[in-house]
Amino acid sequence: MPLTLTSLGCASALPTRENFFTAHVLNIRGRSFLLDCGEGTQLRLRHLDISLRTIEHVFITHLHGDHVFGLPGLLSSMHLLDRTAPLYIYAPHGMEKMLAFYYDFLGEREPSFPIIFREVRGDGPVQVLEAETACVYAFPLKHSVPAFGYLFREKSVRKSRPRSVAYCTDTAPHPDIPGWIRGVDLLFHEATFLEQDAQAAAQYLHSTAGQAAQTARSAGAGTLLLGHFSSRYKETSAFLAEARNIFPNTYLSKEGFTFSVPRDFIAAT
Ligand SMILES: [Zn+2]
Ligand SMILES: [Zn+2]
Repeated sequence: MPLTLTSLGCASALPTRENFFTAHVLNIRGRSFLLDCGEGTQLRLRHLDISLRTIEHVFITHLHGDHVFGLPGLLSSMHLLDRTAPLYIYAPHGMEKMLAFYYDFLGEREPSFPIIFREVRGDGPVQVLEAETACVYAFPLKHSVPAFGYLFREKSVRKSRPRSVAYCTDTAPHPDIPGWIRGVDLLFHEATFLEQDAQAAAQYLHSTAGQAAQTARSAGAGTLLLGHFSSRYKETSAFLAEARNIFPNTYLSKEGFTFSVPRDFIAAT
């Protein structure tokens, strides 16, 4: 059964002609999990024929606009489609208040479905969901506001080896992350900058492509997928070259691109 990660956007603070804001859909054996919800997320879902009804859980890494501005529009469309199934939103403190503002001041009616908030907090990994197909853990990142990565561990099916996916954005290098995601099959990691701009990466608490690759290598990840590229770079091939020098099995996230994690894949150790 498939386990896939589909990119809906891989820009950072500013969109470009090619790149929408950050959002991804993780599909584990037919169940969809939305990771972040930047502006334009629902449009990308439409383009890719991913039904809003399949989304039951939304995981927000942090409350920066490029990761959450798509949420009010997504919720509004769900309401207009007469959704009745509950929607679970996992996010750091403040998410509920942000959405209350939207409902209070923009004249929107109460949604047609329950929204259940799960506030994410803590200094280390904590399980936030046990779903039918996977267990999900949140762990702190190193950013300018409280931010959390998410680790999805597939539940085992018969004798096959369970797979895992980690999602780390936005973050500067954090010494504990490799241990928290050790042996992960697929690591999505932000690479906002190139090493030539390491000073800016440090200043804004982001990572370079090289630093993301170092995290993947330290974690013994199987595959690294880079995204959240700064709009200052006109093309992204340099991200791939820089990361592959350190971690050869690196790929670039791209809108509409779906990365599949094969069941027989064995992560490096
Ligand atoms: Zn961001
Ligand atoms: Zn951010």
